[in-house]
Amino acid sequence: MMLSLDGIEAGYGGLRVLHGLSLEVAAGELVALVGANGAGKSTTLRVASGLLRPSAGRVVFDGEELTGLPGHAVVRRGLVQVPEGRALFGPLTVAENLAMGAFHTGEPADRVLELFPRLAERLDQRADTMSGGEQQMLAIGRALMTRPRLLMLDEPSVGLAPLMVRAVFDALGRIRESGVAILLVEQNAAQALALADRAYVLENGVITLSGTDLAGDERVRRAYLGL
Ligand code: ATP
Repeated sequence: MMLSLDGIEAGYGGLRVLHGLSLEVAAGELVALVGANGAGKSTTLRVASGLLRPSAGRVVFDGEELTGLPGHAVVRRGLVQVPEGRALFGPLTVAENLAMGAFHTGEPADRVLELFPRLAERLDQRADTMSGGEQQMLAIGRALMTRPRLLMLDEPSVGLAPLMVRAVFDALGRIRESGVAILLVEQNAAQALALADRAYVLENGVITLSGTDLAGDERVRRAYLGL
């Protein structure tokens, strides 16, 4: 396994959110993590990306224990999160935002611009004047510039128009084809499950279901797909 979270307990102050959570992502795999509001999906990504230190459990990436390492050290190893709410450098241009992502890698932007032609057309536009969908593409593009081996995304489709949701999900499929593994947190369970190789359901801080065909699971259909 490329990434393993094993027995993770984590929370905020006195609030315990994750209660012994374990999940894995293999090299090249696209894994979806679905669950209701407040189940702990974002908290899971924060633990994996080194932004939140778990009180118990281990984060292992490529055979190396990363538990408790700071976020920048985790990014250097190729485990990279696209933050929720984009967190772009608003006054900077598209090109400048991409260059920030390449700070440590010197990665050229060609691949990202091929993946998102819209960005190629807007290189000199200020990031904060881009539409929501364009900003999401830029946030994903900037993360790719760090040359990740596993990319984690927190609700990339939130607030986007249906066409933009399609564009973002298409891009995730192509990123996987290029050999980058993906851990995708989504409210939009139907589309996430359709794209994923495998998925986990998180409820109240523990994994309650996992498998390759959760869209066919009766409990998932009722609780998360509204069927
Ligand atoms: P959503 O889909 O609504 O974002 P989620 O599954 O991602 O939900 P988390 O964001 O991980 O859930 O939050 C889990 C719990 O932790 C929630 O009860 C939330 O209020 C709480 N929480 C999250 N961040 C903090 C924080 N910085 N300080 C205190 N409590 C927090």
